[in-house]
Amino acid sequence: MKAPLVIAVLPGDGIGPEVMNAGLEVLKALAKTRPALQFEWRHFTGGAQHYADTGNAFPEESMQALGQCDAILFGAIGLPDVRYPNGTEISTQIDIRDRYELYAGVRPVRAMPNTPNVLADARAKAIDFTVLREQTEGFFYSRGKREVDEVGAYDHARITGRGCERLFNFAFRLARERKARGRQGKVTCVDKANVLTSMAYMREQFSKCAQKNPDIAVDYCYVDAMALNLVRKPWDYDVIVTENLFGDILSDLAGGLVGGLGLAPSGDIGDTHAMFQPAHGSAPDIAGRGIANPTAMILSCAMMLEWLGKKHKHPIATEAARLLEDAVHRAYAKRGLKPVELGGSDNTEAITRAVLDELAQGGTR
Ligand code: ATP
Repeated sequence: MKAPLVIAVLPGDGIGPEVMNAGLEVLKALAKTRPALQFEWRHFTGGAQHYADTGNAFPEESMQALGQCDAILFGAIGLPDVRYPNGTEISTQIDIRDRYELYAGVRPVRAMPNTPNVLADARAKAIDFTVLREQTEGFFYSRGKREVDEVGAYDHARITGRGCERLFNFAFRLARERKARGRQGKVTCVDKANVLTSMAYMREQFSKCAQKNPDIAVDYCYVDAMALNLVRKPWDYDVIVTENLFGDILSDLAGGLVGGLGLAPSGDIGDTHAMFQPAHGSAPDIAGRGIANPTAMILSCAMMLEWLGKKHKHPIATEAARLLEDAVHRAYAKRGLKPVELGGSDNTEAITRAVLDELAQGGTR
């Protein structure tokens, strides 16, 4: 029998703990019927409220202890009124990304059955692509390095050969996996190579990597054109790879194409560690009312299982990932779930219960 998978659980602020409970419930349900899939939970406290209470958002011992876990499950961190003395937000998730070099921000963008289509075109029902955002350098490189003089303020971008190589290798692997599942198998490099030296360098590195991956189609798009294309024809894309800030912006735009923030999962993946979290924030405006949509968190749990399955050659984890994702889709397709977020009346508990019921019944999409 495999050793239990050690999962770090960091619920955080606002609706973070509410959606985390939903995620843990479905993972425990999966483990209950599968003796080969067992978890050991390590609970961590941290975030903006913790900073307000103790003066430390996430203690160093906790940061170190995350490294001993097989994966990190993260709810949401940040509260509007809690700031560091320099005015910046408490963003422990970015600190964790930096510490464990979680360079690949994986944001799947998939239309959910029976949710309102933002785009009128019928093809919008089949939107299915992934935004892959670099997360350790790019235009976020200057984060925390305050540079201000009498003329103005400065932020620098940094694009390195190593950063490009590992990101683009990841992109091609992802496209190959998607191709094996019947998707296009294409990587689109998004940059601003017509204006910025760092971006021209990034494009060059991408071309080199593309030559080593001839089985995968490639194309290039400037970030401004991509903003337009994502609204005009998002179904053309498969894997979109880009630098940190562009990825931050485009993944929100992409998430908006397929419903609400409560539907968008994400993974922050490095070569040795990974963290999984809903793409949304702590939503303090709805916290404590039991109406947060837990779908993004539950789908993030499925991404975690998939990653653990690959990393630990654990076929039961891989199978559980697929079953969970299918159960979520069926919950929307068959039961017509309508989250409060999308104007319906299904609250956190109702959505979690629907997914649990679908899991119990089994079947495929
Ligand atoms: P951050 O900057 O921390 O990512 P944000 O400013 O983008 O956060 P969110 O906290 O994600 O903001 O919330 C944006 C809006 O989306 C809010 O109105 C919030 O209530 C709503 N929202 C976010 N997540 C959910 C969810 N899971 N269920 C329902 N509504 C949500």
